[in-house]
Amino acid sequence: TQASSSEHKPRILLMGLRRSGKSSIQKVVFHKVSPNETLFLESTNKIVKEDITNCSFVKFQVWDLPGQIDFHDSIYEECEAIIFVIDSQDEYMDALAKLNATVSKAHRINPGIKFEVFIHKVDGLSDDHKIEAQRDIHHRASDNLAEEGLENLHLSFYLTSIYDHSIFEAFSKVVQKLIPQLPVMENLLNILISNSGIEKAFLFDVISKIYIATDSSPVDMQTYEICCDMIDVVIDMSHIYGVKDDAAFDTKSASIIKLNNGTVMYLREVNRYLALVCIMREDSFEKQGVIDYNFLCFRQAIQDVFEVKPCSGHASMALTSSSDFP
Ligand code: GDP
Repeated sequence: TQASSSEHKPRILLMGLRRSGKSSIQKVVFHKVSPNETLFLESTNKIVKEDITNCSFVKFQVWDLPGQIDFHDSIYEECEAIIFVIDSQDEYMDALAKLNATVSKAHRINPGIKFEVFIHKVDGLSDDHKIEAQRDIHHRASDNLAEEGLENLHLSFYLTSIYDHSIFEAFSKVVQKLIPQLPVMENLLNILISNSGIEKAFLFDVISKIYIATDSSPVDMQTYEICCDMIDVVIDMSHIYGVKDDAAFDTKSASIIKLNNGTVMYLREVNRYLALVCIMREDSFEKQGVIDYNFLCFRQAIQDVFEVKPCSGHASMALTSSSDFP
């Protein structure tokens, strides 16, 4: 049965050969495990590593692709995107063959599926090598598909590693493609920042640190990373000092961090899964009352967006401009 639209979550399948890094990705992105600890992850023989990340905005499953095991068609019917992980530090011919088989089968069963290829473990490659690997994998994958008459099928490629933020960035892009409300949310964020003297704002899935939307100014990796760090700090502090047995993150969660370069970071929760993290100059933050007022309008608008049917996507909000308050 289909959940109501307000509960609809993007459904993603993570696939790839054994040892390509799927469990590590899952642990690092959804369970806050540090990358080094994945070195000692036990290799399981289970084919499906179901993940019940109830507290995340994303619904997510991990599948190994060993041997001849054929999946039940229904797994493709139910998912919206497949992330296929290829180990770039290993011979990847086998992986490419499996990718091809998976894509053509999944596409036949569910033509709506989006295919995302993570060229993974690129921390071991030089910059030249990375580009070369991406070019080579892209080329071969497209050639294979063309041989099957699937030349119009679009695959997206990402260079990823669990040792830096590239895995979070790639995940963010994958998830954003699955959110029909994205343009509306971007628009709301643009209105919010321009009326509040904010420089950059991200809407985060707190548990995974995937950003599901941001305003339309360009994303700079350093800014994204520092926002991720802020979420970690807030969650850790809540675990230590929060009320026992309570969620680390609730409807009243908020945090302000002042950096010594005159920048202020401001976090406010939006709903059970999502938080807004903003960056602004210290003098803009002097009008915190305006920002808080605008934030409440923004939060209401976001709630409205998720409650109406995804395709109707109307939202409006009446903000106060910080320039009205000299
Ligand atoms: P799975 O069988 O696909 O679930 O693969 P695992 O998650 O068990 O990972 C296999 C090995 O790859 C582990 O030793 C991980 O530490 C390692 N690994 C995973 N991701 C990365 C990465 O981004 N870079 C590097 N260098 N190693 C990785």
